[in-house]
Amino acid sequence: MATKLKPVDVVTIGVGWAGTILAKELAQAGLKVVGLERGGYRGQEMFQLPEAKYDQLKYDRHLELFEDLSRTTITFRNRTDEVARPMREHGPFPWGEGLGGAGFHWAGWTWRQTPWNFEIRSRTLARYGEKALPEHSTVQDWPVTYDELEPYYDKFEYTCGISGKAGNLRGIIQSGGNPFEGPRARGYPNPPLKRAYGETLFGEAAEKLGYHPFPMPAAQSSQAYTNPDGASLGECMYCGFCMNYGCEWSAKAVPQTTTIPPALATGNYEIRTHAAVTRINVSGNRATGVTYVDSRGREIEQPADIVLLTAFTWSNTQLMLVSGIGTPYDPATGKGVVGKNYAWHGAAPYMQLLYDEGHIFNPFMGTGALGTAITDFEGDNFDHADLGFVGGSMMVATQMGQGPLTYQPVPPQTPLWGSAWKKSVAHYYNRSFWMIGLHDHLPYRGNYLDLDPNYRDVFGAPLLRVTYDIGPNEHRLSDYMVNVATKIGEVMQPSHLAVFGLPQTFDAGAGYGIVHQVGGAMMGTSPENSVVNKYLQSWDVPNLFVVGASAFPQLSSFNPTGTVGALAYQTADAIKNKYLRHPGLLI
Ligand SMILES: Cc1cc2nc3c(=O)[nH]c(=O)nc-3n(C[C@H](O)[C@H](O)[C@H](O)COP(=O)(O)OP(=O)(O)OC[C@H]3O[C@@H](n4cnc5c(N)ncnc54)[C@H](O)[C@@H]3O)c2cc1C
Ligand code: SF4
Repeated sequence: MATKLKPVDVVTIGVGWAGTILAKELAQAGLKVVGLERGGYRGQEMFQLPEAKYDQLKYDRHLELFEDLSRTTITFRNRTDEVARPMREHGPFPWGEGLGGAGFHWAGWTWRQTPWNFEIRSRTLARYGEKALPEHSTVQDWPVTYDELEPYYDKFEYTCGISGKAGNLRGIIQSGGNPFEGPRARGYPNPPLKRAYGETLFGEAAEKLGYHPFPMPAAQSSQAYTNPDGASLGECMYCGFCMNYGCEWSAKAVPQTTTIPPALATGNYEIRTHAAVTRINVSGNRATGVTYVDSRGREIEQPADIVLLTAFTWSNTQLMLVSGIGTPYDPATGKGVVGKNYAWHGAAPYMQLLYDEGHIFNPFMGTGALGTAITDFEGDNFDHADLGFVGGSMMVATQMGQGPLTYQPVPPQTPLWGSAWKKSVAHYYNRSFWMIGLHDHLPYRGNYLDLDPNYRDVFGAPLLRVTYDIGPNEHRLSDYMVNVATKIGEVMQPSHLAVFGLPQTFDAGAGYGIVHQVGGAMMGTSPENSVVNKYLQSWDVPNLFVVGASAFPQLSSFNPTGTVGALAYQTADAIKNKYLRHPGLLI
């Protein structure tokens, strides 16, 4: 039988960006908050010895900081008539775990969505008519607008000390920034990072073609910085061991450097690691708390007045389904909402440029979010009449720090192994760079999450089953973007240019992928079209808030965490200023 603890005001399930932003805000407001994290402790200080940090095999190849897949995983299939199989390695869906979540070792690309992204359905219908949307797409507008979220984007950017150049200050376009972004109240807290050679070439080529390159907003601090809560960041050293690693300079904004210290300083916040939540306990339409298993295998019940499910898209959806909250989505009937509108980021286009001689790029240096971007082909920034798809891609030439164990660029006809391959890698490693496009991804009726009937996790709960394939809109978009990228690539005159789009069918056995899983507990305007309202409050259980990219109705071209941070700040505000005054449904 579970040991029952004393009640607290708030419990968060997961201690990543979403969980710690909420914990900080609510602890500062005087509430007693407990954060439950299934993984262990880790901090920047653990990366201060060179032998502890500069180990590419451990962190890039063996993905030491990721979820232990022998304890839990997901199962995957492309279509409903297939049997899903468990993910045994971190392939396309690497999954965070431990203090700070994936935010501890993220790359730091910190984007806002544009106003169009929030109103994709209505703006598409208004400009191009009903025919522009594919038949089986379940795309819908967000229940919040860009303008409503702007103050919360701003809050997240100042929490993190984002380095960047504003492109639109209160409606006035700024030279050198992103002219397509929504209006922002003020500039970034820190100036852009230094530029690397490859991205500079890309920027010049894009400009020659009439596009608008700008430095990508980055969560690596370009100078020493103290955030509004008094937490400090050091200056980035461009060490190149950034994504998948801790930062020994505390220059990367992660929960450990930005949100956890001020939350702990209140004396109102307690973090329990190795605490895996197995169930949200519900009585009637009220969450009474959660049950978790601790490091010694003991079952513990933590009662709480407010439950915050902040455990990332996979666990948010799985825990909703396992706890019987909300109506599971059924793709056959289109009824139900929990698990609906799942989408994932593929790379389209991906471009590799190799030079036989002349250019040296030093790809081993860099930082997780060092890049020059264009968004001329993102969203509805270009005319789609007669193109046959909606949306587009933002494209970034990036220098993230590419170690030789994972970066081995060779021209297409090179043998796959042996001395010719080695010679080619040795020659081109330092004479190459790359560009990646992340694309808008519509939701489809057949792409969804549910509980697997065959496989269970170490605690006996059904694994989350992912049913997913690339949709027709994304195929057409990908073909178009490959042409755009090829034209930019040709301007840079590489000796070898290769540009790739999306594969015909999504391959779950493919290598390490992009960690942007969205949907499953989406936000909307009513219980019929969503799991949570605009404050990420469950329609069914009003003292439960489900916070994270699970709330996205669909995926834009932009990495999600800027929007996750903004939504978390919005939820914190709604709890403090609305819910605590009138506990109950906020809408
Ligand atoms: C290598 C990598 C690079 C990335 N780079 C970028 C980037 O450049 N830009 C960007 O926008 N996004 C990036 N992301 C994605 C980004 O990290 C996530 O969007 C962000 O971390 C989400 O925050 P979160 O708090 O919602 O979830 P998480 O960070 O995943 O935190 C959730 C926490 O909940 C815990 N948890 C899960 N289930 C349970 C349970 N049952 N009980 C208790 N605890 C539980 C997990 O262990 C985890 O610590 C990257 C991700 C990875 C892995
Ligand atoms: S590149 Fe910069 S932010 Fe990243 S780990 Fe190195 S010093 Fe830290």
